[in-house]
Amino acid sequence: MKTIIEPFRIKMIEPIKLTTREQREQMIRAAHYNPFRLRAEDVVIDLLTDSGTSAMSSEAWGAMMRGDESYAGARSWYRFRDTVKDIFGFKQVIPTHQGRAAEHILFGVMVKPDSIVPNNTHFDTTRGNIEFVGGTPVDLPCVEADDLDSDAPFKGNMNIEALEKLVAEHGPQRIPVIMVTITNNSGGGQPVSMANIREISRVARSAGIPFYIDACRFAENAHFIKHREKGFADSAPIDIAREMFSYADGCTMSAKKDSFGNIGGFLCTNDAELAHKERNILIMTEGFPTYGGLAGRDLEAIAVGLRETLDEHYLDYRLLSTRYVVERLRESGIPVMAPAGGHAVYLDARRFLPQIEPLQYPGQSLSVELYIEAGIRAVEIGTVMFGLDAHTGEESPARHDLLRLAIPRRVYTQSHMDYVLEAINLVWGRREQIRGMKIVKAPRFLRHFTAHFDYV
Ligand SMILES: *Cc1c(COP(=O)(O)O)cnc(C)c1O
Repeated sequence: MKTIIEPFRIKMIEPIKLTTREQREQMIRAAHYNPFRLRAEDVVIDLLTDSGTSAMSSEAWGAMMRGDESYAGARSWYRFRDTVKDIFGFKQVIPTHQGRAAEHILFGVMVKPDSIVPNNTHFDTTRGNIEFVGGTPVDLPCVEADDLDSDAPFKGNMNIEALEKLVAEHGPQRIPVIMVTITNNSGGGQPVSMANIREISRVARSAGIPFYIDACRFAENAHFIKHREKGFADSAPIDIAREMFSYADGCTMSAKKDSFGNIGGFLCTNDAELAHKERNILIMTEGFPTYGGLAGRDLEAIAVGLRETLDEHYLDYRLLSTRYVVERLRESGIPVMAPAGGHAVYLDARRFLPQIEPLQYPGQSLSVELYIEAGIRAVEIGTVMFGLDAHTGEESPARHDLLRLAIPRRVYTQSHMDYVLEAINLVWGRREQIRGMKIVKAPRFLRHFTAHFDYV
């Protein structure tokens, strides 16, 4: 069968409030043309993020009722810990309230003011947490990543030559940890190959530097390896996941991504001494080591979600559904990042709206138009987000101007995806009339969240 179906039935629904174009024009104006400022209930299809927005299963909801809320040594903790150990394979497991708390603790014990931390592409909280303790995050994406059109299978890879050069130059004294993010969220949700993970591990081990994986979308990455890398076609996703982690010394994880959690995360390591230091910080900032920042019921839900996310039928549906949107857009000639990544579709706003120069924010314009057209909320990843140097106050075009449509897991159906496609096509049809925007008011840091915009 070619038709993509959701491999689940729906037994509980959340109504969507439908709005008129006139209402949406009024609401986005009142939100100063910044979709972050909209009320969620005024959004028809919310593609702002895939983080914490997933739908849990009846199994996970059932498990929540079994949550053991004992302060220390709860049954739910052991269920969570054993599941994480079984899949990720690390000796020490530290629960946290979300991914950035794991980063904060890890970098707090590992990174010093003159440290350099390489990654394929740092996620913004990873970057922020390294800078917070005085370290310097360095992005080393592979060369193929720069070409939005190329169908290279592993555009999330790290540039190994650049990594070797960095390690040769600075050595383990200044590089306390090497990271790789799977899939590469800030690099378009593109996967990292097993071969690349092995190479990073080889470079790290020969220099005596610990190697950590930012594992937020590990299941999607494993499934891409299964389908795109030679030798894995017959492997189960869990075995691919275990192999990926076998090359690393630890990981950080946001359970709000590939484990369907509405909240949660963890930090893993094989180093008992390091884990001891990390748990000391954990007790100060998150909670006792058998619950971190989480309720027993959250630990239960994550333990169930971590198994479900490795289900092949779910992963087939997840990746095919994203690919379906990307392929239909390409057939219509609409500029979109290729090939399809896992968790999101990225429209190339700079080419979609070539009449708008980068400093008039084509990605922001496109996000406003999609909302007006159909009530879809997406996020600009471009000059609004990255164009301002907070220290000098100078503005320049970002590398790309993209609009990210992130797809919550198991929340929207194929017909919702068809609705999204129709909306993008309608905006494409009237693209020549779309104007650029200007910023009326904005803070210096993280301005995209709160800035006020208007048409130029
Ligand atoms: C979301 C995310 C994080 C941070 O996790 P939170 O749970 O949002 O704190 C870190 N790295 C990557 C790649 C992410 O996508």
